[in-house]
Formats: sequence, structure tokens, C-alpha cells
Amino acid sequence: MRKFVFGAVLCLAVVFGFSGINVKAAEPVVVVIDPGHGGSNLGTDYLPIPEKNYTMMVALYMKEQLETYKDVKVYLTHTDDVDMSLAERAEFAQNVGADFLFSLHFNMSISHTLYGSEVWIPSLGELYSQGYSAGNEFIKQFSEMGLFNRGIKTRIGNSGTDYYGVIRQCAIRDIPAIIVEHCHVDNINDIANIQSPEKLKEFGVRDAEAVARYFGLISKDGNTDYSTYAPLAVPVPAARVCNDTTAPLYLNAKLINYDRTEKYITVELNSQDNESALQYYAYSIDSGATWSAYQPWIGNGNIMTATVNLGFGKKSSIMFKVTNKYDLEAVSPAIRLN
Ligand SMILES: [Zn+2]
Repeated sequence: MRKFVFGAVLCLAVVFGFSGINVKAAEPVVVVIDPGHGGSNLGTDYLPIPEKNYTMMVALYMKEQLETYKDVKVYLTHTDDVDMSLAERAEFAQNVGADFLFSLHFNMSISHTLYGSEVWIPSLGELYSQGYSAGNEFIKQFSEMGLFNRGIKTRIGNSGTDYYGVIRQCAIRDIPAIIVEHCHVDNINDIANIQSPEKLKEFGVRDAEAVARYFGLISKDGNTDYSTYAPLAVPVPAARVCNDTTAPLYLNAKLINYDRTEKYITVELNSQDNESALQYYAYSIDSGATWSAYQPWIGNGNIMTATVNLGFGKKSSIMFKVTNKYDLEAVSPAIRLN
């Protein structure tokens, strides 16, 4: 988990320049795995076992799996349960000649409503392209596990550079670094993914597979060959890619059908966000005092159809909200029910 600070930062519009070639590093590839947190820095401590324990377990599984491949040297920033600053992690990566640093994390939200996986990437130049392309491999792996995709994102701090320290410190040293938030430890949709050693191992193995695909590695036993695998080619942006700081522009909800016998309603939701994709929706039958659990926005772009079971008891109105990839929300006018 990371803490959020919102700052007013002027960002240039993104203009894509020349197309970047996905970089395959000179052999052997040097991969640094950074188990998030450690020592007195517990990370998310919503569960009895703090985040630092989960990140270390997954990092060790990831290293083990990645070392089944040829031509790759794998390091962990730390293996003991110690405090380590974000600058020290980046320094470590620099000292071993890292081609990439992968910082492993598990997430939670204050409201406990969010679920799914996300990857934070550098905001500038080739580091952005490399981060996006590698991040895409991780998200593909997590989607196969059934986890919701919360996106591959940048975040800019008050200084006008990358907000997250490990990304910023690595960027200073020209090392691509991404923060992998595997899932949310405080949400029913995700929790099964961390509740057994087998599931944690699956994360580690899938993390390694993502990296093996990104770098086009071949396994030592020759059974797996990603040398011709083409990760997503991401053009190098001409300017810093900034995060979305504004909510969706609007949300309208139109009643399509009201089944008074079965107490179901069907609505058409219509929203728009020009900076980031729509992510979840929820509804309220008490004028916004409480909300349903978030549901995925599964729509044809800006429009989706939602069916809601109103349950027993008279309901006088219903309203909806939508969020974007940065968890900023827009609320619809209420629909009167009678
Ligand atoms: Zn964390």
C-alpha cells in the first residue's frame, strides 16, 4: 500500500513521439526484485500478517521461478526483515547493474471497497514505455487469475516528478522500476488469493513468467521459450504522462425496466471520462447515505446496462455512481421509484 498525496502539478498534454523499440538488455539480464516494506515498515497491516511478510514470500517464489531461466541474474534488495529506504533500494539496483527493478506490494483501501490489481510505472520517456510494457505482462497474468484490472498508471508528486519514491529514485539512475500491487488484502473479491501458500506461490510464479516474457527468456530445460514472444510495444511519450486528477464528467442513469413483482430494475448507465477509463459502479437506495459494493464497469465504452435487485421493502429512489481508474467518482441524479 502507498499513501496518496494530491498536488497541483502542471502537466503537458501527452504527445507521442517516435516509436520505441522494446529494449532487450545485453545478456545476462539483471533483475532486481524488491520485496516491499520490511523491518519496522510493515506496509498494510489490516490483516494479522503484515504486507512485508507477503511481499517477501512472493519475492522468494518469484526468484526461484525466474532462476529456472537461462541468462538472467536475479537479486533481492533484501532477504532479512530490515528497514531499507527507497533510495537504498534504487542504489542497490544501480550497484548490481539492474536492467529492471520490480517492487512487490499488496494493497488495501481506507474504505475497503476497492479490489483488483494495478501497476504503477515511471511517467517519462523510455522508462515509461518499458514500465508500461512490463506492467502489461503482470496485469495479463493477474487477469488470468480472475483479478480485476485497475490499470497501469503513473502518478506525479508535488515536485512534478514521479510521486512514488522507488520509481523516482530508480528514474534518477535511469533504471526502469514498477510497483506491482498484486491485489487488495481487505476485500472479499481478492482475499482468497493470499490465503494459502499455494496462492502466494502462484503470484511469485506468475510474476516471474511476466518478467520472462518481457525479456524473452528461455528456460534452462528448454521447455519454455519466450525468445520470439513480443511484449506490447509502447511508443516513447514526448512529454511526461500525468495521472488523471478529475472525476468522470457526468453519470446519467435511465430506467429501462422495473419488474415490480420480482423487484428488479434495469438501468442504462451513461458516463464519460476523457483521461482514464471507467472502472466500477455502485448504487444507493438511501439517497447516497450507503452504497452497494462496487461492481466492474463492463460496458460498451461509456454506456453499460446494470440490473439491480431491490430486495424487500418499499424503495422510493435509487442513484448510481461511477469511478475511474484513479478512484475519482461521479454520482447520477436519483431515479424515483413508485
Ligand atoms: Zn506496499
